[in-house]
Amino acid sequence: MSRVYNFSAGPAVLPEEVLKEAAEEMLDYQGTGMSVMEMSHRSKVYDDIIKTAEQDLRDLMNIPDNYKVLFLQGGASQQFAMIPMNLMKNKVADYIVTGQWAKKAWQEAQKYGTANKIASSEDKTFSYIPDCSDLPISEDADYVYICENNTIYGTKFKTLPNTKGKTLVADVSSCFLSEPVDVTKYGVIYGGVQKNIGPAGVVIVIIREDLITEDVLPGTPTMLTYKTHADAQSLYNTPPAYGIYICGKVFKWLKKQGGLEKMKEYNEKKAKILYDFLDESKLFKGTVVKEDRSLMNVPFVTGDKDLDAKFVAEAKENGFENLKGHRSVGGMRASIYNAMPIEGVEKLVEFMKKFEAENA
Ligand SMILES: *Cc1c(COP(=O)(O)O)cnc(C)c1O
Repeated sequence: MSRVYNFSAGPAVLPEEVLKEAAEEMLDYQGTGMSVMEMSHRSKVYDDIIKTAEQDLRDLMNIPDNYKVLFLQGGASQQFAMIPMNLMKNKVADYIVTGQWAKKAWQEAQKYGTANKIASSEDKTFSYIPDCSDLPISEDADYVYICENNTIYGTKFKTLPNTKGKTLVADVSSCFLSEPVDVTKYGVIYGGVQKNIGPAGVVIVIIREDLITEDVLPGTPTMLTYKTHADAQSLYNTPPAYGIYICGKVFKWLKKQGGLEKMKEYNEKKAKILYDFLDESKLFKGTVVKEDRSLMNVPFVTGDKDLDAKFVAEAKENGFENLKGHRSVGGMRASIYNAMPIEGVEKLVEFMKKFEAENA
């Protein structure tokens, strides 16, 4: 068996320890004689799995009691519709568009009401985070929406926007559990887990209780109503049971690493190795403004398309996978999520130095 260094943006690298544990439990989960994949989601054993997962997530993020944790399906993209359907009481929301994912969410919301684009960084290919200290927040906005870490472009909000008292909704798919957050600053925090937490198929929604109501837009399906899932503790119908089990293992792993403060330190250390090299390299360069750099997704280019392609191909031959940038931006992107070991980044930089010397 040999494992590569996987820099995929998602689905992405998971802790090896977690994968091994899951493999050991594959045929017989703790003496039940069956796989978690095969058991009833209404069983006592599974109830322990989902309850423990929720509690561990609450511990890690310090989630207050007046927030619900929902394990849902449909990916992050389904939330683009679910958020307006459930939250647009006045049919007005403000969107800060800092990349493709925020743009998609903004476009989707337009189906349900007035979705204002109150700031954007599209003028410079989403290479920065706009100043959000004094935006024209709509008087009757039901919420202000951000994508906190822009997976494709590699930028991150280092300070949250001033929402002037309006509810903040954040897509944290690609920075989930990468550092501590103050949950009380948000109305809704959500993310697909396949970037930094677990297998595709699970989306986690952390939502303040007062935002969970029966007063949703007319025609909102039962399955797309937060209240349905909140009332049933994510067991209204069959949840993505196996995926949640793996997420639970990752939560335990994060606790063992020392929690989110420690992850932040580790992630900063990892990202610094790569950014420091990009800043000194004569061949490679980062593509976003320094103060908005993501700790999780690091895009870079050589400035020459053919050389970029050569780099991606040679990197792959050397065990560094999935370094090709998103199809919409080209170049390279190294996603260095929680489970990417520091050695992976060190070795990547060594390889980049060698490539630079050979292609000077
Ligand atoms: C990947 C990604 C999405 C889309 O996730 P799906 O689960 O494929 O719908 C949305 N937002 C962000 C920030 C992402 O990184």
